[in-house]
Amino acid sequence: MEYILSKSTYIRGMQCFKSLYLNKFRPYLRDKISEEQLAKFARGHAVGKIAQQLFPGGIALPRPGKSSASKTAELIEAGCPAIYEACFISDDVIVALDILVKEGNGYSAYEVKSSTALSSVYFNDAFLQYHIINGSGLKPVKFFLVHRNADIELTEETDLNQAFIFTDVSAECEKQETFIGQNIEAMLEVLKRDKSPDIFPGEHCMKPYPCDFRGVCWKKLTKEEQEILLNKD
Ligand code: SF4
Repeated sequence: MEYILSKSTYIRGMQCFKSLYLNKFRPYLRDKISEEQLAKFARGHAVGKIAQQLFPGGIALPRPGKSSASKTAELIEAGCPAIYEACFISDDVIVALDILVKEGNGYSAYEVKSSTALSSVYFNDAFLQYHIINGSGLKPVKFFLVHRNADIELTEETDLNQAFIFTDVSAECEKQETFIGQNIEAMLEVLKRDKSPDIFPGEHCMKPYPCDFRGVCWKKLTKEEQEILLNKD
């Protein structure tokens, strides 16, 4: 069970093949992570932990890797009612799903987002995970994106079923199967090259996320050009 891509590198590749390549072969060129980004990661992690209590009594797996994938397969085989950070490998890609829940004879997938709205990145994340879980031999009964309800404050007393909104994206996941497989193949091809793809900076450097290779790539741009990209909606 080897793997080359992860969920985050796939999402990076969706934004820019050059970023995907540099991240793999020149990670030392990445810009420093800001305090704001670190805080966002920590917030996401904390909300993910709280959301596990939507389906209490599950087993949490440690860091994604080959042993977590094997353990996930064992727990599924044993009929475990809920698995947190369930790990799957297929098509040279590894993913860790926030919550896998036994429903009837199968399992449904729940991917939790700490934000109060769903974005295209979250959908792409769900499409990838569905594809990999399916490819590993477990077709999810349903796939849900779960995000925060902006009207309900998250405290220890909050009814968690009110604090989160569930969106069934199973049908879209199914429709995207072929496209996701093609994307993965294209990214794996990029990573076989002996030099980074020749991609000139542009609007894609800021969407959906500000790329962390701007420090090297944007040297090709004038200050004015950089300002225009930074201030584009
Ligand atoms: S800065 Fe722009 S061109 Fe360079 S790797 Fe990032 S997204 Fe690609």
